[in-house]
Amino acid sequence: MKKKRRMRFETAAIHSDGGPDPAYGAIVPPLYQTSTFVFEDIGKTKGYDYSRSGNPTRKALEDTLAVLEGGKAGFAFATGMAAETTVIHLLKQGDHVISQQDLYGGTYRLFESVMKCFGLEFTFVDMGKRGEIEAAIKPNTRMLWIETISNPLLNVVDVDMVAGVAKKRGLLTVADNTLPSPYLLRPIEHGIDLAVHSTTKYLNGHCDVVGGAVVTATNELAERVQFLLNAMGTCASPFDCWLVLRGVKTLPIRMEQHNKNAMAVAAFLEKHPGVTKVYYPGLKSHPGYKIAGKLMKGCGGMVSFEVKGGMYAVNSFLRKIRVFSLAESLGGIDSLAEHPATMSHASMPASFRRKVGITDDLIRLSIGLEHVDDLIEDLAQALKPA
Ligand SMILES: *Cc1c(COP(=O)(O)O)cnc(C)c1O
Repeated sequence: MKKKRRMRFETAAIHSDGGPDPAYGAIVPPLYQTSTFVFEDIGKTKGYDYSRSGNPTRKALEDTLAVLEGGKAGFAFATGMAAETTVIHLLKQGDHVISQQDLYGGTYRLFESVMKCFGLEFTFVDMGKRGEIEAAIKPNTRMLWIETISNPLLNVVDVDMVAGVAKKRGLLTVADNTLPSPYLLRPIEHGIDLAVHSTTKYLNGHCDVVGGAVVTATNELAERVQFLLNAMGTCASPFDCWLVLRGVKTLPIRMEQHNKNAMAVAAFLEKHPGVTKVYYPGLKSHPGYKIAGKLMKGCGGMVSFEVKGGMYAVNSFLRKIRVFSLAESLGGIDSLAEHPATMSHASMPASFRRKVGITDDLIRLSIGLEHVDDLIEDLAQALKPA
């Protein structure tokens, strides 16, 4: 392969896939939709033997993700949860994990309802408070697991602080970097060991794949993740990798537009009399405003808000939206609205939700790439009292 100069993010997103294809010069990595690869001779392959262990289309995506996250190696998984399940298996029975209380509902469920049964221990803290993290560390603590931007309250974690605490104690650090995507924030560059993604969201960005990814900061971690991926069989299919790679190439330009649209929507909601509170790290009123300015290139496409009028107002809003769709997930071209208490965070006990601040009148928006005036007009008509 030709040696290339270190490229800027936008260029790297397009030129890190190992292309053009050596067989016919295809500019886009071909879809190697095959289960197995024929040996040239006993013990001699062209680098691949079986698609669970490795596949050229998957490799094109994995190499691109490694470059974009600034890590040593990338791995593509069937879903974000498959990526998380694989990474948590770096630990063993009796190990303790400190994570944050405002965690993605599915991650909370994986930890509390699945991994706990296999002898892992979890403590959930406010990741904004260094003292709380340090107080939770026990002799068997092995891992700190954060979300760089939490969901649905959009708290921004000070990754420098968290990585510092972990380094001092020799703890492994995992950052779920799904919400900002590597375009806005690269946790490995701040000292985090593993970046985890649901590629279902911004990396693919087109609402047509579920997928996951892991990027490691070191070759030693890369070897362990590759071993687990192959042993557990959690990898992504070639076709899904092909689609996600196509999505990744437009990540920078999509994120710029998500940022702009979300900022405008957040500013509109903040002034609306039917809205009691808006959560967006680009607003001065948000507790993460300063850290976001320090760490991130823009504040992303997620906006949450509380409506005046309780469940009646929530239901009325969700029934009236026309451009927004009532659906879970996020990070795609389509604008979506959902109700965390009964949808994305229903797997979290109500008492825990209340403690964290996820109220019953909270609505979460994923701001898509439609014209921002159409989005704001839709919100305005859906918020109008009957
Ligand atoms: C969606 C999501 C996941 C889970 O990913 P899937 O692709 O749905 O399995 C994990 N973390 C965050 C922050 C997410 O938004």
